[in-house]
Amino acid sequence: MKLIFEKSKAGLSCSVLPPCDVPAAPLPAELARKTPARLPCLDENRISRHYSALAKRVFGVNDGFYPLGSCTMKYNPKLNEELAALAGFTGIHPLQPDHTVEGCKKVFDLAAQYLCEIAGMDAVNFQPAAGAHGEFTGLLLFRAYHESRGDAGRTKIIIPDSAHGTNPASATMAGFSVVNIASGPDGCVDLGALAAAAGPDTAGLMLTNPNTAGLFDPKILEITRIVHEAGGLNYYDGANLNAIMGIARPGDMGFDMIHFNLHKSFSTPHGGGGPGSGAVSCKSFLAPFLPVSGTCLAGKPSDSSRAMPPPEAGAQSIGRVRAFHGNFLVVVKALAYLLYLGKEGIPQAARNAVLNANYLMEKLRDKLPPAYPGPCMHEFVISLEKIKASYHVSALDFAKALQDRGMHPPTIYFPLTVREALMVEPTETESRETLDEAADAFLSVYDEILAGGGSVRAAPVSTVIRRPDEVQAARKPVPRYVAP
Ligand SMILES: *Cc1c(COP(=O)(O)O)cnc(C)c1O
Repeated sequence: MKLIFEKSKAGLSCSVLPPCDVPAAPLPAELARKTPARLPCLDENRISRHYSALAKRVFGVNDGFYPLGSCTMKYNPKLNEELAALAGFTGIHPLQPDHTVEGCKKVFDLAAQYLCEIAGMDAVNFQPAAGAHGEFTGLLLFRAYHESRGDAGRTKIIIPDSAHGTNPASATMAGFSVVNIASGPDGCVDLGALAAAAGPDTAGLMLTNPNTAGLFDPKILEITRIVHEAGGLNYYDGANLNAIMGIARPGDMGFDMIHFNLHKSFSTPHGGGGPGSGAVSCKSFLAPFLPVSGTCLAGKPSDSSRAMPPPEAGAQSIGRVRAFHGNFLVVVKALAYLLYLGKEGIPQAARNAVLNANYLMEKLRDKLPPAYPGPCMHEFVISLEKIKASYHVSALDFAKALQDRGMHPPTIYFPLTVREALMVEPTETESRETLDEAADAFLSVYDEILAGGGSVRAAPVSTVIRRPDEVQAARKPVPRYVAP
């Protein structure tokens, strides 16, 4: 398929702007371009066809089963989009006077009440734009908290090797050094290793729970106690919340802070690059350090979500991590989802997520055994290590063969603690029929492997791009279009 620049033809255009009916105000000369921007020239029809053609090459949640572990690619009710598109939400400006946006403030407040209730926390801030951004924000809070107490020697964040990859990255970006601790044979935190790592230099622990192997750590209370006793704080990576939402609360497990991925658990479409929301929530003792705007306190209709906080507010705040209040429309969608499911629906969604994962895991167990015996939470991990040794078929080959069966592959080679890993997250929105079809697809790949595996190594045959040269792509990337 040609690039839009290759389809460009000088002289073609589509003017969508009406003629100017006010006096033109030219830019100051030093800001104006010397040469025109190199933009493709096409008529509207051709632009439209170009993007439709691209859209057909994409595989999304609406095209089929999408069990991409750790990503929660669940179906997003279209109702949320309709509500977020209401003019009262889309037509506002963050600098409007408060009394003209009371409804929007109410959206923040209500969403915050529900999220605090689900997390067992006291305050929410909506500024962070994604999960990793929430982690970064949380860690800046940890630093500010320790500094406010004159406890300056706490420079380390403990992170189990079963954590999501963003955890060590965020800790490093926030200026901490990372102490990695190995998991025990059960795939969960090794208490001995944790106790040995925790000490007067510990700023905190970051725990992904359920962890990347899809396991809820049964020693969670012990874990948070060890860290608190060493003077550290506990951070809960809540991106996997749809295994536990409405059932168990991180705030009751000894955690001081959490981020939500509103664009995963609370049903905003994602994967295309945004917008998302990594709203953070914390206990009241950390609330004074939250970003200056976009904060709501549980139980209190706040006016602190206003754009410009009064000067006395936020003296201890870490400042801003994003403009204004974050991605407001994502919060509207999250609230729509919360209100739609309600108090009964939220835990039911969590139970279904866990049931679906266990159902699929059990259907595959005999031939494709899970890396840990289970039961699992919302996802499970299969290791193809033995299959690779016997049949020379890798996790990558397996994933490609699943593409030929009309589904998105699971996550591969993650978590790093499992060799030749396939990480499968069916999500709660899939029906039993879809799960049965998916199990058949996995098992038919397995049968082809036993029959020699040649067809699996040659997959995919049905996709537009089959196997890009990943070594070349990593070593000699060509990230920019060069005109011929
Ligand atoms: C997706 C995810 C993140 C990161 O969230 P982003 O919005 O992609 O930055 C962090 N932790 C876990 C467990 C996740 O699944």
